[in-house]
Amino acid sequence: MGLFARDVTVCVLSSGSAGNCTYVGDGHAGVLIDCGLATKQITERMKAAGLGEAPIDAVLVTHEHSDHVAAAGVLGRALRKRGKPAPFYMTAGTAQGIDPRVMPDGIEPVKAGSTVAVAHLRAECFPIPHDTRDPVAWQVHVGDITVAVITDLGRPTQLVADKLRRCDVAVLEFNHDEELLMNGPYPYWLKQRIKSNHGHLSNRQAAELLDSGLGTRLKSLVLAHLSEENNTTDHATRGARAVLDAHRADHVQLRVGQQRASLAPFTVRAEAW
Ligand SMILES: [Zn+2]
Ligand SMILES: [Zn+2]
Repeated sequence: MGLFARDVTVCVLSSGSAGNCTYVGDGHAGVLIDCGLATKQITERMKAAGLGEAPIDAVLVTHEHSDHVAAAGVLGRALRKRGKPAPFYMTAGTAQGIDPRVMPDGIEPVKAGSTVAVAHLRAECFPIPHDTRDPVAWQVHVGDITVAVITDLGRPTQLVADKLRRCDVAVLEFNHDEELLMNGPYPYWLKQRIKSNHGHLSNRQAAELLDSGLGTRLKSLVLAHLSEENNTTDHATRGARAVLDAHRADHVQLRVGQQRASLAPFTVRAEAW
């Protein structure tokens, strides 16, 4: 037992190519990871999830694609207006790549691989392969609990598997089913982009990553950034479930992130501060 014990709340507010945003907090401090849907939507979904009063002490940005940063400018101003301005942590490459129209005030540049303190939380970013200037994934450490959001990567890497292995909660990309993608409606160039080493993880690749990175700490897995055209909840879930079954990890709670509505928030207990 640690000196304190606290519930860490995780709420995937939106997930998919039309907008990504996840809240992580413990009631005393909290962060948003990405802000790729309208500020109004973020606010409404947080309220609906019972997080209307939850603190937002920082916004952790993964990369400059609009489905991850669309709200940045407006959200930054809204938080300032509430009297709670929050820094936007992002790599210099991401800051350079952001559409100037959504550029927030209060950018704090970080290097991929670094850790920043957000109140008593620690936010750590690490590099991932994606077709932007300097993309990262973020992990939030609260006491002994680690929550990671790992999406928008073209292939599994050793580093990502190592990070995943220490997670208590992982929000992990299961973007597309390879067959649905190839037989689907997308133009050839877009299919190639998605499939490339700097595109998105297929269900098969994500299952591979999970297989190599599944650790004993993992309690909750959220399948994320599912393509609405080239994937289904069934396809993605089947892929993840097969790996969990093979590892006899049926205690791991499995959820699927949604585009059009927030998932119900869930908590994990943090101790050992
Ligand atoms: Zn994305
Ligand atoms: Zn992206």
